[in-house]
Amino acid sequence: MNQLSLRKNLEFMSDKSVRVRFAPSPTGPLHMGGVRTALYNYLFAKKHNGTFILRIEDTDQNRFVEGAEEYIIEALKWCGITPDEGQGIGGDYGPYKQSERKAMYKPYADQLIASGNAYYAFDTSEDLDRMRKQALQMKMPNWQYNSVTRTSMQNSLTLPEDEVQKRLDNGDSYVIRFKMPRNEDVRFEDEIRGWVVVNTNNVDDKVLYKSDGMPTYHLANIVDDHTMKISHVIRGEEWLPSAPLHVLLYEAFGWDAPKFAHCPLLLRPDGNGKLSKRDGDRLGFPVFPIDWLSAEGEKFSGYREQGYLPGAFINMLAFLGWNPGTTQEIFTLVEMVEAFSLNRVSKAGAKFDADKTKWFQQQYLRAESESSLAKLLRIEVGDAISSFSDEYLEQACHLMKERATFVEDIYSEGQYLFENPTDFDEKTVSKKWKEEAEELMKEWSKELETISDFDAINIETSFKAFLEAKEMGIGKVLPLFRLVVTGKGMGPSMFEISALLGKEESLKRMEKNIPAIVKLKG
Ligand code: GLU
Repeated sequence: MNQLSLRKNLEFMSDKSVRVRFAPSPTGPLHMGGVRTALYNYLFAKKHNGTFILRIEDTDQNRFVEGAEEYIIEALKWCGITPDEGQGIGGDYGPYKQSERKAMYKPYADQLIASGNAYYAFDTSEDLDRMRKQALQMKMPNWQYNSVTRTSMQNSLTLPEDEVQKRLDNGDSYVIRFKMPRNEDVRFEDEIRGWVVVNTNNVDDKVLYKSDGMPTYHLANIVDDHTMKISHVIRGEEWLPSAPLHVLLYEAFGWDAPKFAHCPLLLRPDGNGKLSKRDGDRLGFPVFPIDWLSAEGEKFSGYREQGYLPGAFINMLAFLGWNPGTTQEIFTLVEMVEAFSLNRVSKAGAKFDADKTKWFQQQYLRAESESSLAKLLRIEVGDAISSFSDEYLEQACHLMKERATFVEDIYSEGQYLFENPTDFDEKTVSKKWKEEAEELMKEWSKELETISDFDAINIETSFKAFLEAKEMGIGKVLPLFRLVVTGKGMGPSMFEISALLGKEESLKRMEKNIPAIVKLKG
């Protein structure tokens, strides 16, 4: 085997072992920042022939929210970000929900105690409050349980061994804390940020396990990532402060740590702060993939219900923090997989741009086939268009899609394709409808009647001949025709509109609407 093919082979082998996970906590609906994290995990996995796993991190039972897990699964499904393995799918490393793995964690906590990397702490919440208050009085606002303060607390480092045993036997409640080393630099190479160095003096002795039998996020996360053979941890920037502890936990267990990649924050459009769950409805755009109704009855709107196509949403999201390094902006999911790499993810926060989001939606709507748009239109509009054939709807979509952002715009902008207008554009009536207009339109109506093969080309040819005979310009006459048939001052090709409506309907409208406009004018 030559050098190159050997290298290729090795790359392939290492690709196979790429295993990433999206690990949301079911504490509420999935924010679009979370969807982006899932997307980057998915893209990275697919790019490397790896496995994308969905794991539900529900160790914090106090923050559990009914329906959140179902929401996460449904939202990912709508986006087309399908896990290969995990909650709701299965796989060899399950269960994929931490509450169902509960029994698994205690031996790991015990292992850390045995190796001197963790200790029991018996301090009650009153004890901790008292310490915080005392520190505050001494002008030290951020009291932490750490390498300094732990020496004056009630834990297995300060209490005699038999006392510790007595308390444990007694069933006293306790937590297991990580024994953070004093004044050590923890360093790791983040795939997005490069080298990160944090001194342990800035990190507290985090709780890993509680006597109620539940691990905390930190312990469960590390144990699961290790036992699920996760190769890369791709997650939001808000977890960066936890990473040094995680690195030390891997060391304490004697395990190889996965590679870390902390994605940039999603910022408000003005760049002022993190995009929060209430920003969306306040600033007029959704922050969630799909609608969410909170238990308190508060509604948060989603992209799906606002009429966004999932492809547009995903495409827009991918660009919040990543760019392909070319000018291409429209990417199918498959193209995105091909183009994606973590080293093109920026570390700077990404500003959400509502206009750009709409632009993506427009591009996707235009790229949709007429037949799929027609199906969506039927679902969206329902009864009002139920009597129209599929062909008719497809043609209507063809005419209107360039002017629409959302599927429903095809109906609202092109309502005249489905019913005779009752309103007539005021500006066109006042500016274009002159003295001779009534007569002119009546004559044109007669011409229309003579067209036997009523298609757009024939209507156009006839119209041009009519203009020639009248020695009039198109700019004077076409707006009148449009006004009579559609009630509008602008729109797609009038010849195509009239052809779609058909001869009978076009003539009916001429007959009915000419007098209506005359009346309006008078
Ligand atoms: N459960 C954490 C969350 O809700 C996941 C953090 C991680 O990916 O390690 O975001």
